[in-house]
Amino acid sequence: MSQQTTPTTDAVSVLIQELNKLPGIGPKSAQRIAYYLLRANELENQSLAEAILQVKQKTRLCSICLNVSETDVCHICSSEPRDRTKICIVEQPQDILAIEHTRKYNGLYHVLHGALSPSEGIGPDDLRIKELIDRLKSGEVTEIILATNTNLEGEQTSLYLHRLISPLGIKVTRLARGLPFGTELEYADDMTLSRALEGRQEF
Ligand SMILES: [Zn+2]
Repeated sequence: MSQQTTPTTDAVSVLIQELNKLPGIGPKSAQRIAYYLLRANELENQSLAEAILQVKQKTRLCSICLNVSETDVCHICSSEPRDRTKICIVEQPQDILAIEHTRKYNGLYHVLHGALSPSEGIGPDDLRIKELIDRLKSGEVTEIILATNTNLEGEQTSLYLHRLISPLGIKVTRLARGLPFGTELEYADDMTLSRALEGRQEF
């Protein structure tokens, strides 16, 4: 019996494997995209490859809020009309996009880059909490809005931050309960998120 034939070449299977590592891309989608790229013209593939490389090379974290930025200070932190007395705390940079999209918030942000998860060994030192506390030292901030995800990790993180920040005499609020438990902020719809933001309550 001859050697079993493989359905794809090495190059195609490597591409499928790489695509399959991306969030939301299962094996079937990975296959579909790989064969699409195989048929696409080389110039288009080059622009895609270039865009993937540049996203790492051109971006850094804002030195103030740790949002993704192409400049040392991001466009939100450097925007004059923004209300500097409010900081909204989010887990990931993409959560800022979700909140900005509602057009209901005009304050600043702080990105934690994760959430507390004792089971995965993620503690306060693994999040960008120290940077947040440093920002509060100026005394300009009067309200902290906790906008972590509504899952177990998000709730633990909010609770921890509330205990840490409220003794500093700063009002700590959280998004209203309109968001169902288990919601990741980036996937919340505009209307629900707007309501949650407007109806925010003191912790
Ligand atoms: Zn910033």
